[in-house]
Amino acid sequence: MDQTLLGTLRHDWTLPQVQSLFAMPFLDLLFHAQRVHRQYQEPSTVQMSTLLSIKTGACPEDCAYCSQSVRYDTGLERETLLEINQVVESARRAKEAGATRFCMGAAYRSPKPKQVAAIAQMIREVRALGMETCATLGMLTPAQAVELKNAGLDYYNHNIDTSPEYYDKVITTRTFQDRLDTLEAVREAGLKVCCGGILGMGETTTDRANMLLTLANLPVHPESVPINQLVQIPGTPLHGKAGVDPFDFVRTIAVARLMMPAAHVRLSAGREAMSDELQALCFMAGANSMFYGEKLLTTGNPDVARDQKLFARLGLKAEAAKAPDPAHECSHEHTHQGNHVSEARSVSA
Ligand code: SF4
Repeated sequence: MDQTLLGTLRHDWTLPQVQSLFAMPFLDLLFHAQRVHRQYQEPSTVQMSTLLSIKTGACPEDCAYCSQSVRYDTGLERETLLEINQVVESARRAKEAGATRFCMGAAYRSPKPKQVAAIAQMIREVRALGMETCATLGMLTPAQAVELKNAGLDYYNHNIDTSPEYYDKVITTRTFQDRLDTLEAVREAGLKVCCGGILGMGETTTDRANMLLTLANLPVHPESVPINQLVQIPGTPLHGKAGVDPFDFVRTIAVARLMMPAAHVRLSAGREAMSDELQALCFMAGANSMFYGEKLLTTGNPDVARDQKLFARLGLKAEAAKAPDPAHECSHEHTHQGNHVSEARSVSA
């Protein structure tokens, strides 16, 4: 493709253009991704999020990668919605460890009004600590999205997981269009969008291209784009799939960076299994966000000490917290008085 087009914010990508990015020689692709990264992003700076499962397991959906689906025997212990003080205490610890964003994941297909009200209160209290907030609770109605926004929620995570064409090979209890509808409701409510997918589920390179094409051709690019590597969970249908080639994983990060230059591209699930060298290549390709802490929703994550050592070896620094949104000052006052980043990665509730 015309390489002068790289580095522009566009919403009219075509599949042949995306395929030509995937087909570039690896080092050329990395060069362009790093060049564009430096045009839009602070080099050597990584945004750090911590993820807490606030309601675990018993999810009625059938996402073929997920330990929390009620349909698979994964040995996961179910938990009801956590108490608010447990959530705030976790957020406080995450902040002390250096995280600037706190993501709360609940394994719902779509939350009930009472559940949204309880989570809205958690959001108010976590926001009052000075952290950015993110939630992943499944499908939302437009009114629920507004309720969460009014509580001070900054981001909503809702992954599309894969291409529209491959979607029903992974999930049959909802449609790709359902995902797009919630994303639209979230955007309409004025929330920032965290939306990405999972690699290593048996999808082709064309599926990866179509997944990124869907995201990059949304009217507004997601502010966060998590790219997950499948964490294989015994008992789930995707257990035993051939893993993704590490260079193909890096390629996908680089193509995401080129297509959505202003977004934070997040290295998400699967990072525990990656070598430090592979993670460094991902950062070179344009990843500039990651989950930090020893657990994602129910899967492992590199421990904090290993991450801190890696940051020191690579000269990376953590992105500073964003200033609180003045629109939510009032909810902070109240609190002073008083799922699913895709599970495989991530959470995809
Ligand atoms: S990824 Fe989310 S929606 Fe899918 S089964 Fe797991 S918890 Fe449920």
